[in-house]
Amino acid sequence: MSVTQSREIRLASRPHGWPTADNFQLARTEVGAPADGQVLVRNLYMSVDPYMRSRMNDAKSYVPPFQIGKPLDGGAVGEVVESKASGLAPGTIVISSFGWREYFVADAKHLRAVTNPVKPLSTYLGVLGMTGMTAWVGLELVEAKAGDTVFVSAAAGAVGSVAGQLAKLRGCRVIGSAGSAEKVKLLTEELGFDAAFNYKDGQLVAQLAAAAPDGIDVYFDNVGGDHLEAALSALRPNGRIAACGMISLYNNERPAPGPSNLALIVGKRLTIKGFIVSDWNARTPDFLAEVGGYIAAGKPLKNKETVVEGIERAPEAFLDLLRGESVGKMIVKLS
Ligand code: NDP
Repeated sequence: MSVTQSREIRLASRPHGWPTADNFQLARTEVGAPADGQVLVRNLYMSVDPYMRSRMNDAKSYVPPFQIGKPLDGGAVGEVVESKASGLAPGTIVISSFGWREYFVADAKHLRAVTNPVKPLSTYLGVLGMTGMTAWVGLELVEAKAGDTVFVSAAAGAVGSVAGQLAKLRGCRVIGSAGSAEKVKLLTEELGFDAAFNYKDGQLVAQLAAAAPDGIDVYFDNVGGDHLEAALSALRPNGRIAACGMISLYNNERPAPGPSNLALIVGKRLTIKGFIVSDWNARTPDFLAEVGGYIAAGKPLKNKETVVEGIERAPEAFLDLLRGESVGKMIVKLS
């Protein structure tokens, strides 16, 4: 039986607070030949995502924790190299959740084949993948519509950059916050945001008020904490919040106090809707029809990405993502 030499990243230990390179281990392994109904896949790109930080904890969540000594997993795009499954010939491009490794064998039912793939293939981890779907779901949930003023935090990141662009395509006025002057420039000069600011430059409430003097209708929350507090202040009556993520809290060792102005929810009649993108899998065709349609029609929707090469650099890519060093979607290209 033939075996393929592969490398994978395993969880070495659980972090307390901010993770470090020591929490990961690069390991060599051998992958066997596929059995009937299975394929051998070589990964080409893999995703690193903020939710993986929660999975490093030994805590019950909506996704199971990573196990010490075992490979991590997550979104990946790969190519079938050996097949014992009908309909998945060698060369077929497949999307899977078997990231953090170079090769794997899996049942065909765990893979989604892509027909007529768009290039680069990493787009299936970005605007046409879970990232883009998250942005789309959040806007659907709060019914963002033409004329709304929409504020997006972590706006130069993977989800935020797509959420802002999709809101613009819906006819909204879009404001973004990000953590550097370069990111702010990207938002206003390349991605079509109407206004943007660096949240590290000064008081958030004042910067948001300057960008949206008449208030906001929708807040797309990727950050939580002080961003959520500022948004609550800026929201107009009947405003809506898409609670997508709260990255400012993920590395806390103790729970942080909630926004001091939560009571505004009552007087302003605000709605906060949290969501997990995988609950919306049945709506994938609608997402692909709308977002794929924009791309096919050449509408202004850019798939910004930061690419790091080599499986051995995947932990570094993940740590950089948490530190705000990536622009757009953080991708690891496996060579
Ligand atoms: P990003 O590409 O946006 O990367 C994270 C960004 O967050 C960093 O680049 C950094 O940008 C910003 N950030 C980090 N710490 C802070 C902080 N303390 N305050 C403000 N900004 C901070 O990641 P994603 O687009 O993949 O994820 C964005 C959010 O969406 C996350 O909260 C994630 O958990 C959530 N998410 C939720 C899903 C769901 O189903 N609900 C699915 C996928 C993602 P900067 O330089 O601007 O600080």
